[in-house]
Amino acid sequence: MTERLAIEEIEVHVLQVPLQKTFWMSTEAYTTAGQVFVTLRTAEGLVGYGQAHGNPLDEIAKVIREDLSPILLGSSAWDVRALWQRMFETTFRRTKAVTTGQPHFGNRGRYQMMAAIAAVDIAMWDLRAKAADVPLHRLLGTDRNTVPAYASGGYYPSADRDELGIDGLINEIGSYVEAGFDTAKMKVGRVPANDVKRVAAVRDTFPDIRLLVDANGAWTFTEAALAARGFSELGVAWLEEPLAWFANAADLGRLAEISPVPLAGGEQEPHKWSCVPLVEQGGLRYLQLDCTRAGGITEWLEAAAFATQKDVGLAPHHDPQIHAHLLAACGDDVIQETFPNPVRDPLWDEFFLSKPTLRDGVVHLPAAPGLGFEPDPAMLRRWSVASWTCSSDAGEVQVREGASQFAVQ
Ligand SMILES: [Mg+2]
Repeated sequence: MTERLAIEEIEVHVLQVPLQKTFWMSTEAYTTAGQVFVTLRTAEGLVGYGQAHGNPLDEIAKVIREDLSPILLGSSAWDVRALWQRMFETTFRRTKAVTTGQPHFGNRGRYQMMAAIAAVDIAMWDLRAKAADVPLHRLLGTDRNTVPAYASGGYYPSADRDELGIDGLINEIGSYVEAGFDTAKMKVGRVPANDVKRVAAVRDTFPDIRLLVDANGAWTFTEAALAARGFSELGVAWLEEPLAWFANAADLGRLAEISPVPLAGGEQEPHKWSCVPLVEQGGLRYLQLDCTRAGGITEWLEAAAFATQKDVGLAPHHDPQIHAHLLAACGDDVIQETFPNPVRDPLWDEFFLSKPTLRDGVVHLPAAPGLGFEPDPAMLRRWSVASWTCSSDAGEVQVREGASQFAVQ
């Protein structure tokens, strides 16, 4: 293995895919699938792919162009941990002048910075595994190439809190059962009594499935405790993000003590440090840290190591094409979220020429080197609403709009 993996070019795309219908969570609507997609190209001609989620996507792309590309261009992807540290230090040690407003650290937005680091970190892990000519899960220390998965969906039909949408819900969960899933997740987080009715309808129709519910952080402590009692009689296997944003880990821990249903959470955490109180005090059964939001694979592995030490299982949010490699290397107390409905997740369904396969409720990782997926250039062209290419000329970072010999022709 002689490649130096020096990063010569960084391509950044903002992808936006309008959905054919609106998917309602407890309090927010999901109308557009979006992500920042990054390619890192090395002097040897290897290409690594990375993805980031978060909002606003333009801000994430800007951090990559302006703050991270000077650190990455000319550096070696073999050095991913040292580079991660240098990138992370831009979140609290900044020397740039702030041009507007009152200066303060993290002016650019820490969540956007962690998502930007995530995209390029993931791409560096892809490069390293490709240079080693092995699938990423092997680089992480396992030959295992399958991971159990669940089907995520069960959204509300509208903003109307009285509309239960039970017929549609039953049809949807039925489609997952027909596809071979034994575990499915549905949305809750509105009026607890109504949510118990929706869950009861699914339970009555599908008595044998493992049923998970996700409140997307919509409830007060009292509402969550009430709902958890109702769900426990229906054999719900986890209650996800029950409490609103102003609750802390200790509040979650108090809920875990009285909830007969195990709790899951952590998909919105920005880094490993914020996972520590969740694991130590939150009473979580599953940690759901999302590496595409929170600093990438380097950071996710450290949080996962801490969680598993404390007997907390791992169930990362979204993106099986990345997370399933990590889960394969993390033992048996793991499960991967997937979105089999192509209307909800066109990025999973249509964006890739090749990717992991989802069969009978199991993610099967490909044997191809690296992450093992290949984006479809036609879809990249179609869905990319903005793109930039960063390169270095005599030590100076050059950014040009659009571009890309790979995508935009
Ligand atoms: Mg969730």
